[in-house]
Amino acid sequence: MQLPSLLLENAVNEFAKLPGIGKKTALRMVLHLLKQDTEIVTHFSETIAKMRKEVKFCRRCHNISDGDFCAICANSARNQQMICVVENLRDVIAIESTQQFNGTYHILGGIISPLDGIGPDQLNISSLIHRIETESISELIFALSPNIQGDTTIYYIQKKLQNTPCTVTTIARGIAFGGELEYADEMTLARSLANRLPVQQYVKS
Ligand SMILES: [Zn+2]
Repeated sequence: MQLPSLLLENAVNEFAKLPGIGKKTALRMVLHLLKQDTEIVTHFSETIAKMRKEVKFCRRCHNISDGDFCAICANSARNQQMICVVENLRDVIAIESTQQFNGTYHILGGIISPLDGIGPDQLNISSLIHRIETESISELIFALSPNIQGDTTIYYIQKKLQNTPCTVTTIARGIAFGGELEYADEMTLARSLANRLPVQQYVKS
């Protein structure tokens, strides 16, 4: 892409580094900013720089936070004895959107994946174990991706919890709502059968 200005080109290259943004979209964004007043563009760039510089991570659950503890950990109306273990912040946002969970979270920051060089030590696992040992946690819910890495992570953590009295569960795995049974893969179908629910419970939820 041939651009008439190096300044323009530099800005386009920065936008094009964002996920899902190609050079053409980046150019459209930059040209849009170019049409705005200088103060608006300054405010835009300062907001992003401030977010990066000042954002904190919750000392308890590793969620994004404005203070030492995130809004979920600081909320006494939530069940602080229940932890939902997730891979990343996007998972917290997805579960919060359902409005079906009133406990707390623990963000691992990834899942165990030896092929990608990610072992237990790179994840927030020791802080999770510490929470379970010190916070009288009643239930731990694993909400990890249903794949080999997710299962490995659950297995690893669960082995470390054998002497703790808390209930350990995992989110159900099965046919997606609106999905066609005949198109489900064998593993999903097999797990759906193994994890079948009494109809009364299914209708209630
Ligand atoms: Zn928190």
